[in-house]
Amino acid sequence: MMDQANFSFPVELKQVRITDDFWEKEIRLVREQVVPYQWEALNDRVPDAEPSYCIHNFKAAGKLNEQAKNKDFVRPVYSVERFQHLPEDPEKPEETRFYGFVFQDSDYAKWIEAVAYLLEQQPDPELERIADESIDIVCAAQQPDGYLDTFYILNDLSKRFTNLKDYHELYCMGHLIEGAVAYYKATAKRKLLDAACRYADCVAEHIGPEEGKLRGYPGHEVAEMALAKLYELTGEERFLRLGQYFLDERGREPCYFDLEHQLKPDGGRRNRYYQAHKPVREQEEAVGHAVRAVYLYSGMADFARLTGDESLKTACRRLWKDIVERKMYLTGGIGATHIGEAFSFAYDLPNDTAYAETCAAIGMAFFARRMLELEADSEYGDVLEREIYNGALSGMDFSGTRFFYVNPLEVLPEACREDSRKEHVQPVRQKWFGCSCCPPNLARLIGSIGSYVYTQREDAVFVHLYIGSRLEKQLKTGSLRLEMESWFPWEGKVRLKIECDATEPCTVALRMPGWCGDCRVKGAEDAQRRQEKGYLYLTKVWGSEILELDFPMEARLVQADSRVREDIGKAAVMRGPLVYCMEQADNGENLHLLRLEPEAGFTACSLEIAGRQVLALKGKGWRQRPTEGQRLYSVYTRPQFDPVSLTWVPYYAWANRGEGEMQVWSRI
Ligand SMILES: [Zn+2]
Repeated sequence: MMDQANFSFPVELKQVRITDDFWEKEIRLVREQVVPYQWEALNDRVPDAEPSYCIHNFKAAGKLNEQAKNKDFVRPVYSVERFQHLPEDPEKPEETRFYGFVFQDSDYAKWIEAVAYLLEQQPDPELERIADESIDIVCAAQQPDGYLDTFYILNDLSKRFTNLKDYHELYCMGHLIEGAVAYYKATAKRKLLDAACRYADCVAEHIGPEEGKLRGYPGHEVAEMALAKLYELTGEERFLRLGQYFLDERGREPCYFDLEHQLKPDGGRRNRYYQAHKPVREQEEAVGHAVRAVYLYSGMADFARLTGDESLKTACRRLWKDIVERKMYLTGGIGATHIGEAFSFAYDLPNDTAYAETCAAIGMAFFARRMLELEADSEYGDVLEREIYNGALSGMDFSGTRFFYVNPLEVLPEACREDSRKEHVQPVRQKWFGCSCCPPNLARLIGSIGSYVYTQREDAVFVHLYIGSRLEKQLKTGSLRLEMESWFPWEGKVRLKIECDATEPCTVALRMPGWCGDCRVKGAEDAQRRQEKGYLYLTKVWGSEILELDFPMEARLVQADSRVREDIGKAAVMRGPLVYCMEQADNGENLHLLRLEPEAGFTACSLEIAGRQVLALKGKGWRQRPTEGQRLYSVYTRPQFDPVSLTWVPYYAWANRGEGEMQVWSRI
């Protein structure tokens, strides 16, 4: 057990009101564009987009239930047989047929979670009506024993829980729980929450350590995080126990996934993909499918906090370090290879074949916030900031209706079309995907961004992100109101207005961003000050005060560790928390011929991209002249360069001006 005095706790979204210029725009986009658009997409009403079938599947399962109403419910028995392929039964009427991926239900769950965050911050009767109706549709699909996964309901219930490795039942359960918890918090309506609890109870009846149950666990993690949330909301120990069991059982010998699929053990090689190659506390390296990995680590961090389990925390720290010191792109993207959407080996970070799924960057934000709850260390806050302003936000365009699944750091549109090794990379964002995990995931992250800004203790508030907002917190003898005005990510000026009528001392802890060499904090001169792990702690009996924070944002050149072969001889440009890139729209084609001039410096200027103002950077550089004679090979001569003016735009803003080349890393 560890000393839990260092922990801080999540701040409820209700306690925070976002007033930030930058994020208010993003939230408004989610409210006005993304969420309504996604509702249409889930209902297959977006012309020319790949159909989702998500709501269709719930309706179809509800229809089957309706038909079975007058018959006695027969509890299905497990079958040893699994589905080897998606069953296609031509006899089956279309209206009760399952379509899409096995995890299609989860798209709805993430959508309702995003809706809940919006409702929690601003009432919207029409949206709530649509949400309530959708919940009726979903709950009508639930089986009498609580089971709720449309793939098996529509195909063959007797085969449920027979392929935990690949068929995502527990993943869908996890997302359903997260959506249900959020919707209950926002509206106090219990219907979806009750359904989620019943599904979790149904799972616990069949899966667990007790005699006669399947000793399985999720093939795609997320249920661990979800059960932690469900436990924290309901206080019901049984949900904590189920999540704890999933973590404890994972990776034990003999591996459940091998047994389930009657496969010979291969020393854990195959199961690295699922992070089931070793017990979680013994895992040394971040491996396998990147989204699964960071969802697992996030769940481990939750349980470390909830149970005080030091060994889980130690494992989380080790896995964190492996990612951020060896396997993370500058943008915060993770998952360097599209094969298995997975981590590659250390320092293998190719720019033009990167996978860097939007969901994986979002998952890193989940992981970072949970590590911050375990200990305030600016290393976690810095990565959280990197994710939300770069690798996650790049997943959506400025209209809120186009999305990236893959977030490369270098793009040549022709290569995306002609080179099958890069066919996962899209040069422009897409309307929707058959596998649409990313868009609703981004909607729920942006919708809940207020819950990432602060964490709290009984007598302390931690400011992790500089996002304009108001926070109200109860202390023992009064309340503390904090009003943050921020010009992030464009300017490093922050103004914190504090009003407090409590008579006891309270600590305000401020993250000193790692990218800033000269952090200045003016005000509260009489406070007791100390600095620890990148946080400045100010402790005093607060009255009415103003803190002026100044984190000068200078454009800077960044290099990668020399072990990153792809980035050798190259540099990238950052300013404050933003990663910048060059686009063809500003710099012409053949970006690979450009060289930047390290001594030249940068000037910042306003640029309009698709109706939005961003801060662009201009600097001097060079363009290599085409080789003489234009022959494929010729005798070496020193290349000739012409001076050019170069323009960089924030990475998250790229591909909002049609198709073109892009690169983050440039020759130097
Ligand atoms: Zn995704």
